[in-house]
Amino acid sequence: MQSLKCRSVEVGLIRAVLFRPPLARVAGIALCATFLFSAAAALRAADKPDEQTLVGKLIFVPGTGPVLATSNKHVPLVGRNHYIFNTLEDKRLRDDEVRLKGTMRADGNFQVSDLYTIHHGELYRVRYYCETCNIVALAPGRCVCCQQPTELQEIPLNRHDPKILITH
Ligand SMILES: [Zn+2]
Repeated sequence: MQSLKCRSVEVGLIRAVLFRPPLARVAGIALCATFLFSAAAALRAADKPDEQTLVGKLIFVPGTGPVLATSNKHVPLVGRNHYIFNTLEDKRLRDDEVRLKGTMRADGNFQVSDLYTIHHGELYRVRYYCETCNIVALAPGRCVCCQQPTELQEIPLNRHDPKILITH
């Protein structure tokens, strides 16, 4: 009920912004974006009350698969979808320090919904990119367009310079 109410407020705001004159629209969009962000954050928190963040080293244990080695335990990992799981299994990310968001399942596996790598204390988003086609893929593999292998790229989360990439 709460989320329905929030969504209708968002829709109302978007409509209000669209029908304003251009100058007022810029301020309106900024305001709207701030509001939407906080509303979306509230929705996420409400939808996933047991979501947690784990930091550790992404390792691979034969017979188990991807595992997060934290300071005091080994947590077996599963992905919320196959894109995330395939990324967790990417050999190039092995032994990287990562920050994982997800939920602990009853079977003891941590179900990952978000993955960031950490380099020098900074968070990086992982993506797979085909330079030829300028296509971004969610998981490792071949480009859906030209079938060439995609390139793993890591992009700093808190900077807006698209040139800063760590490529493997
Ligand atoms: Zn391509």
